[in-house]
Amino acid sequence: MRLTVLGASGTYPRPGGATNGFLVREGGTSLVLELGNGCLSNLLREARLTEIDAVVITHMHIDHFGDLYPLFYALRFHPDRPWGQRLLLPGDGLGIMGRILGEDSREYLERVFAPEVLEAGRDYGVGDITLRAFPTRHPVEGYALRLEGPGWRVAYSSDSSPCPGVEEAARGTDLFICEATLPAAYEEEASHGHMTSRQAGATAATAGARKLMLTHIWPTFDVLDIVREAGETYRGEIVPAREGMTVSLEGGWHVQA
Ligand SMILES: [Zn+2]
Ligand SMILES: [Zn+2]
Repeated sequence: MRLTVLGASGTYPRPGGATNGFLVREGGTSLVLELGNGCLSNLLREARLTEIDAVVITHMHIDHFGDLYPLFYALRFHPDRPWGQRLLLPGDGLGIMGRILGEDSREYLERVFAPEVLEAGRDYGVGDITLRAFPTRHPVEGYALRLEGPGWRVAYSSDSSPCPGVEEAARGTDLFICEATLPAAYEEEASHGHMTSRQAGATAATAGARKLMLTHIWPTFDVLDIVREAGETYRGEIVPAREGMTVSLEGGWHVQA
């Protein structure tokens, strides 16, 4: 399993960065997890459009799905017409996307993409990877995910305040990718659907996750401060997500900057 960070910023990008996105590869399977603003460009450094088995969007906030628009046009006008791209997303995700498209483009959404509804407690198979969705605590419908492949388990919090769904997703995982939008001093602000550094660490500790990757840190905050604060509640190894970083779980834990 190789996981490449396509976008690591929360809500809006750092200079030269992108908002949320990850590419997960296992054997011949390629899964894109979130496709925020700026992610498609980074994705195309790693994979061809026609190699993507599925794209998964955890909730319909623009920093998690913004680059579905350029993906839509890249597929629609691709010379080989690789339409029917599998796309897992909550509720009426395509309907939400369609609101800002013209009538002529909107009608292609369900041809270019093959949408599937993401629901809590359901398992989804994507090639060699199995996904399970867990409910988050966020202003819109959203799902934390647990991904499983041969010999590994990875969880992703999506955007959420601490809650049983995220904890359950992360339970006993080899790697837990958790949002840590805000520093510890911002607990009140975080209570509206995000986590602080310390809450991310505490969730990872309670869930017994073996490694912790922090992501969705607001660009106005210092990443190293967030990592240090998360270390007050979590004793394992913590790594901040960075665009272009690759994590491999083959034969142990390897991070390549
Ligand atoms: Zn977000
Ligand atoms: Zn959100």
